[in-house]
Amino acid sequence: MEGLLWKWQLGPGYTGDQGNGRALWSPTTPSAATHTTASVSPETSDVTRQGRRAGDDLTMNTNTDPKARVSLNVAGQGEPERKRKPTVAADSLSHRDLRSGDFWRSLPAFTDIDEPTFLDHRWQAKHSITKVDKLLGVLEGLVHKRFFDDLRQGFSSAPMAVRVSPYMLSLIDWANPYDDPIRRQFLPVGSEILPDHPKLDLDSLHEQEDAPVAGLTHRYPDKALFLALDTCPVYCRFCTRSYAVGTNTEEVEKVSLKASVARWEEAFSYVESRDELEDVVISGGDSYQLRADHIRQIGNRLLDIDHIRRMRFASKGPAVMPQKLLTDDDWVDALTEVVDRGRRMHKEVVLHTHFNHPNEITEITARALNRLFERGIVVRNQSVLQRGVNDDPATMTTLVKRLSWLNAHPYYVYQHDMVKGVETLRTTVQTALDLEKQIRGVTAGFNTPVFVVDAPGGGGKRDAHSYEYYNRETGVSVYKSPNVNADALYCYFDPIYSLSERGRERWADPANHDAIVAEAVAAARSGEHR
Ligand code: SF4
Repeated sequence: MEGLLWKWQLGPGYTGDQGNGRALWSPTTPSAATHTTASVSPETSDVTRQGRRAGDDLTMNTNTDPKARVSLNVAGQGEPERKRKPTVAADSLSHRDLRSGDFWRSLPAFTDIDEPTFLDHRWQAKHSITKVDKLLGVLEGLVHKRFFDDLRQGFSSAPMAVRVSPYMLSLIDWANPYDDPIRRQFLPVGSEILPDHPKLDLDSLHEQEDAPVAGLTHRYPDKALFLALDTCPVYCRFCTRSYAVGTNTEEVEKVSLKASVARWEEAFSYVESRDELEDVVISGGDSYQLRADHIRQIGNRLLDIDHIRRMRFASKGPAVMPQKLLTDDDWVDALTEVVDRGRRMHKEVVLHTHFNHPNEITEITARALNRLFERGIVVRNQSVLQRGVNDDPATMTTLVKRLSWLNAHPYYVYQHDMVKGVETLRTTVQTALDLEKQIRGVTAGFNTPVFVVDAPGGGGKRDAHSYEYYNRETGVSVYKSPNVNADALYCYFDPIYSLSERGRERWADPANHDAIVAEAVAAARSGEHR
């Protein structure tokens, strides 16, 4: 670029200042509509400092006269060609097409359910399905007996209790339930069960090891995770907290974290005693299950601690039962009061939610999220990357754009944790890396999720790309987490079904397991980056 002479073509009201290479606008001379040229050097031009190059089209909107524009062009090439992007294909805007109407009536059991009933959160909670026989009643005639037998086997061997709202059930494509992304997240089928990875723990994130009091995890220096209760409006198969959340199953006896004011007070006292804590996540279980007075009690107690500056109520509710945000006024008012009080205290209180697939977002969701937006409640979304649910670029792009359309910020996409009984839903770290590449750039950066691995063993969330070492043959990726433990290395394991034949052979013999891990850790320590 050095040595190039640039020519400014100035519209009415502009003059070229050849001394310093800047275009000046003179509002008093609009009639002097001659095109003036000024030679400027790129080193001194404001335009050049903004990274423009020869041939770029530049419009300065400082003048209210639309004709008063400044064009940047290489000397001698005349008026630059104005380029318009081609019209986009209609399906590229499909994220705006939200499902509407009384879609739930296609389920035999809901044929007579009118809209006010379907929008009533109490009706949704009361008619949520927890038993396979009850599900049979709702789906009578819709699914094949073979699928139903498969479901029955899935229910009996799942480590997570089953609970699914009528809203979710009515969004499933029952003509093809095996491939449906919502069915895959909530309703286990026996034929999909794969053996767990040999390196899997029930509490793979070791949340209990970092819990100074029951139900409060303090891992990062300034942040704590407060588990207020152990129930949710639905139970997700992929839940990382299947060690505590939901009722006992045939496979797992759960750690008890019941809603208890006495237990909460122990947690609050701990938070109060730790001056370094600034940020509390209120989760569970799910904040949707907290009574309105409990939202106020927890919110205000934490707001009253001077060093707490940020709080996030975590709830999957907006994704699985948006009706509550439309019909449970007391709950929404309670959250609004805490958010407003926080704002007056210059503290941030937001809602974190959990949509995983664009099909979960309907016109009912839009109404619910709009209600929160009108009240100034910031909503951020955390998704879990799941095989056959959202592990392809088109689905993830639509999810990100649909959330952005409704002002819910796509914040994180989590690599699926190593959770018992759901190996079929896990993907490789490579899948996350590939997806991230496809997603970045589809919308603004602040609406682009960060893909993270919550490092098993308690390393916390690491950018998926930040591994020290990744062996794609054995599926072992190794992460560091200096702010949690400067010396430790944390390993994530790709699901064995996804590995090459050679990789599967190595894991097939338990005698190799320690060596596979030791080899990855040694490579990470030696700085070998694969
Ligand atoms: S709503 Fe959240 S805490 Fe509850 S089961 Fe689902 S993922 Fe787990």
